[in-house]
Amino acid sequence: MSDIHANLTALDTVVRDAEEDGAIDGVWSLGDNVGYGPQPAECLARLRELNATIIAGNHDRAATGAMGIEEFNSDAATAALWTREHLSEDDKAFLDKLPEVSKPVDSFTIVHGTLKYPVWEYLYSYETAQGHLELQETPFSFVGHTHVPLRVVEDKQQPRGCELYRLDDGDVTELTDEARLVLNPGSVGQPRDGDPRASYAIYDTDQQTVTMKRVEYEFAKTQELMREADLPVWLIDRLAVGR
Ligand code: ZN
Repeated sequence: MSDIHANLTALDTVVRDAEEDGAIDGVWSLGDNVGYGPQPAECLARLRELNATIIAGNHDRAATGAMGIEEFNSDAATAALWTREHLSEDDKAFLDKLPEVSKPVDSFTIVHGTLKYPVWEYLYSYETAQGHLELQETPFSFVGHTHVPLRVVEDKQQPRGCELYRLDDGDVTELTDEARLVLNPGSVGQPRDGDPRASYAIYDTDQQTVTMKRVEYEFAKTQELMREADLPVWLIDRLAVGR
């Protein structure tokens, strides 16, 4: 899962949904665990309870002050400052210790943005995908950051070096040794592909497949908490439209 963004209602719904098909062995969180949403501390507690493998995103860095908010638009900056005030010193120390690139897990490397600029670069074009793949030492990788589900298939025969495919609910990607891949599972807590349902993926280690999942969650509950916290209106509204 990626880009949970302090949306506990979405996170809990996704975990319940994943467990419906049987016990899960582990959770990987691809960064932006906090920022934008109303329950940053609760989300971190939940992830620690799940013993998740977690990496840092730009919002995790901004939430502790480790990174400035100059690059953020005004709503994101407001939310980052709010988040700073609502995390304990212990939570901030935990966030600051998160790596920006994971050690290989199974055949995957995990990073928030790209391997070139781990917390900042959006992987959404042939160019950024190629730059990332050049640095990828494992057969597969998971990225987040764009909040849009995507599959990149390396193809060195092509001048662009790869193909890009948008992913929908139920789309299955087979992991084979025929092509190196980059996968983006979309965003749990703030989807931006026009579909407000929480987005994540299930990696089946037996079948060697990754299946995209979309799940409805009670975004009105998250919105209510955001209103109570006086977070920016646009951040509240966008949850209903997935933009
Ligand atoms: Zn994000």
